[in-house]
Amino acid sequence: SFKYPRQERYVLKNVSLKIQAGEKLSIVGENGAGKTTFIKLLLRLYDVTEGKILLDGVDIRHYAYSDYLKLFSTVFQDFKIYAFTVYENIALAQTDKTSKEKLDEILEKGGLAEKISQLKNGGYTYMFREFAEYGVELSGGEQQKLALCRALCKDAPIVILDEPTAGLSPLAEHEIYSKFHEMVKNKTAIFISHRLTSSLFCDKIALFSDGRIIEYGAHQELMELNGSYAEIFKLQAKYYLDEGEVAL
Ligand code: ADP
Repeated sequence: SFKYPRQERYVLKNVSLKIQAGEKLSIVGENGAGKTTFIKLLLRLYDVTEGKILLDGVDIRHYAYSDYLKLFSTVFQDFKIYAFTVYENIALAQTDKTSKEKLDEILEKGGLAEKISQLKNGGYTYMFREFAEYGVELSGGEQQKLALCRALCKDAPIVILDEPTAGLSPLAEHEIYSKFHEMVKNKTAIFISHRLTSSLFCDKIALFSDGRIIEYGAHQELMELNGSYAEIFKLQAKYYLDEGEVAL
């Protein structure tokens, strides 16, 4: 359980779940349900108010923080793309240590290889035109792909995506999730979204509501349960079908 410092209200209450190595977990639920807070606790940005979080059976407060953080690669909704080159945006501090071949491979996996290869300076092209006459302006979706490439470059065993596709059309979102699923094949991955398309790729789904996990299981199990998850899923599927964009 958790409440933010100096707050009376519990934002998470009696949340308990186990994430297996290599598992893909989808965390869904409406805005304010506590999804991001859960991630902040996993990353130890805050410590839990009651209970504990264990990694391999050891309380995460007992690990050296810098070592612990090396396990995670995260893409938050408000990721930043810098006015550096494409390659630098992917490798960041590791730019000198990351080979061009590896960066090109990441661009390929991230679905940006074709776009970047069309630029005169390829991956050495600067982002944006503010400081570079021949800088490249990528679309919102392409910038999101670049942020995903960055997460991939860190090559951490646990990848967390916190609504990195918010603001994208359902079709673009679907494309990114399919792509990313491929990219994190051998890793543990946690996806957070208020859209349920992301959960189709996952082994387990946790539906958060008002700080609690109200449904937990595989997609098919939750559809058969015919509870809130199934209801929201059908509603969203209908919306996508009405929009004529993605048939689920
Ligand atoms: P979600 O990610 O599911 O949209 P959040 O975890 O962001 O939900 O928020 C859960 C609840 O915690 C909300 O009621 C929100 O207002 C509250 N909250 C989020 N951040 C803070 C904070 N820094 N201080 C106090 N309350 C917060």
